[in-house]
Amino acid sequence: LNSASPPARRKWLADFSECLFSFVIQLLPTQEELAVKEDVRKLLERLIRTIEPESRLLSFGSTANGYGLRNSDMDLCCLIDSEERLAASDLVTMLGDLLERETKFHVKPLPHARIPIVKLSLDPSPGLPLGIACDIGFENRLALENTRLLMCYAMIDPTRVRTMVLFLKVWSKRRKINSPYKGTLSSYGYVLLVIYFLVHVKNPPVLPNLQQMPPLRPIPKEETYLGGFNTWFFDDIELLRQRWHSENTETVAELLIDFFRYFSRDFPYGVGVASIRAGLLKKDSKGWQNDLSASRYNDARERNRFCIEDPFETDYNVARCVTKDGLYTIRGEFMRASRVLAARPERAILALADLCD
Ligand code: ATP
Ligand code: MG
Repeated sequence: LNSASPPARRKWLADFSECLFSFVIQLLPTQEELAVKEDVRKLLERLIRTIEPESRLLSFGSTANGYGLRNSDMDLCCLIDSEERLAASDLVTMLGDLLERETKFHVKPLPHARIPIVKLSLDPSPGLPLGIACDIGFENRLALENTRLLMCYAMIDPTRVRTMVLFLKVWSKRRKINSPYKGTLSSYGYVLLVIYFLVHVKNPPVLPNLQQMPPLRPIPKEETYLGGFNTWFFDDIELLRQRWHSENTETVAELLIDFFRYFSRDFPYGVGVASIRAGLLKKDSKGWQNDLSASRYNDARERNRFCIEDPFETDYNVARCVTKDGLYTIRGEFMRASRVLAARPERAILALADLCD
């Protein structure tokens, strides 16, 4: 805590931090839920192996990255280790048929989507009061790596990083600004914003830049390049903890207030790109400027209203789904949150309720 701040403010920030911790703790998945999900993964893996014996089914996204909430969906990725394998679209169709025959899941194969997946869901039952939703994709190795990167960031400073991320996920869902299909931002996008803020905006930083730290030994390219993208990052978190510690001692409450202020007022939405790999970049240096050639004008402009660089797939804008209206709404919500927190209602818990209502 900033020792220069008046005692009343310090007390309020400490109270609000406590509220945030207790709020997110009760939203974490229970041991039972995690166990059921692991059983589902194993069952699905067994079934997939009847089609592709050399395959593995791995979790990614929030079930594996340390930022899972209760009842979040399961993201699964099937890796096939043999040389000869079926095309993803054929696998999706075959797996869809198989699961329909052999399980109680509702099955929806999407063989022709940009990323072919099988969507599954299970109705609520006494053991699983909210059911399960699950997507199975194929060979999405970059997603497995970005999941591992986010998890490593969570492990460096679990209390502050996870609390901020989990809170923002709940907040963005409750405020209805967490739907890429409706022009706002995915959870993945919000997590990247938090990490960007903690690595590149805060001074002193709360987190180091894992993608720019010197490796312990020279790494041959073929070990870390996936589809032409460099996926190397410093992942020995035990060692990192011995060698690096943050000089930043702010509380979660202070960091959150600052986060909302930065993204309502200071982030240059018009020209800037948030990159956890390289800090604040310029849209035109990436070819993501708003006004491209006439034929693609509208399309490109809609795609690059808000720019967040994927940590590995650096030509991919994670926020490409955010529309003009979506961005207006998101910024409006950042401002509203800033206002609520600046007012510092007498009881900190009221701020929390007000933020999410
Ligand atoms: P939730 O609990 O809301 O499902 P989540 O952590 O699973 O949150 P998602 O947004 O569902 O987050 O993303 C899951 C994974 O899918 C991410 O870790 C990432 O690998 C991949 N992903 C999601 N959205 C994008 C995107 N816009 N661009 C690239 N990858 C994405
Ligand atoms: Mg998910």
